[in-house]
Amino acid sequence: MKDGCGREINYLRLSVTDLCDLRCIYCMPESGVKKLDHTSILSVEEIEEIVRTAAGLGITKVRLTGGEPLVRRGIDEIVRRVAGTPGIEEVALTTNGTLLPEKAEMLKAAGVGRVNISLDTLDPDEYRFITRTGNLADALRGIDAALDAGLTPVKINAVLMGGVNDDQIEPLIELTKRENIHVRFIEIMPIGECAGWNKARFIGLGEVTKRVPELRPVGTEGVAELYRKDGYPGTVGLIHPISSHFCPDCNRVRITPDGTMKPCLHSSGEIPLKGLHGAELAAAMRGGIFGKPMRHYLEGGASSDSVRNMNAIGG
Ligand code: SAM
Ligand code: SF4
Repeated sequence: MKDGCGREINYLRLSVTDLCDLRCIYCMPESGVKKLDHTSILSVEEIEEIVRTAAGLGITKVRLTGGEPLVRRGIDEIVRRVAGTPGIEEVALTTNGTLLPEKAEMLKAAGVGRVNISLDTLDPDEYRFITRTGNLADALRGIDAALDAGLTPVKINAVLMGGVNDDQIEPLIELTKRENIHVRFIEIMPIGECAGWNKARFIGLGEVTKRVPELRPVGTEGVAELYRKDGYPGTVGLIHPISSHFCPDCNRVRITPDGTMKPCLHSSGEIPLKGLHGAELAAAMRGGIFGKPMRHYLEGGASSDSVRNMNAIGG
């Protein structure tokens, strides 16, 4: 359906848990988050009904996210039900990759088409610093598992932070030498954990083409400007959620693990859906989509109005 600004909304980002096996510095507090009571998070049946209702309102693509979606118990059943919903044409998943070695085959069989894997660095010490608890080798094994299982093309998402991982632009781009791997650099957004960070960490993506001038522009894909290094099969994408302001073309809404709809990532507006069923649920979702805010106001240096950390939204 169209929102109140005339944008066609066809993409649902569904966060299935706010828990995670990592503690990325920009996303989660070091101490982790308190586990929500299981009655507070959406059950598999509630997720199924929300997705069925969303499909009735014109959603065709669902991305499962988190927290870390692969730590959610029953993720296999969630994937099966989402993928089996009439009208849902595409199911994707965003993950840190660490659990893919044991779950990639299952995800493919259950109906996930492809995965985005978040990886901000190829330096083991830097990876430990950024994720606080993670091992780079696990994430790399996850990438191989996704490729082997045919969850392709694999997109690697890297959040670029000044003074933290801007030394990794070249090594990450080298991943696109491999078949079926695309790398996308994402501007870090001042939300939740990193909202109050020093401005020096919020670097622009102009840094990528400055450091690797041989990148050739090859068009766009959705919100990403695409580049390619000659002879490499994969593309390098730049995604500027703040400076490029792609709100006019925004096609998505989000559902949080506790069952609220967030029509805009950077707005505090949330529509509670938990406990609603049938026509009531459809009316609440329709109202949420219709009332989606026109735009965010981050480009002047303001922080997000979202009241949640990223792990409780899903990116
Ligand atoms: N755990 C999974 C993962 O890391 O891919 C899925 C959830 S995570 C919240 C989704 C995406 O949000 C990740 O790619 C992460 O890097 C990104 N993210 C988290 N905080 C961010 C921020 N402040 N600005 C930009 N991206 C952010
Ligand atoms: Fe976990 Fe993903 Fe947040 Fe990192 S970005 S703490 S992997 S939810």
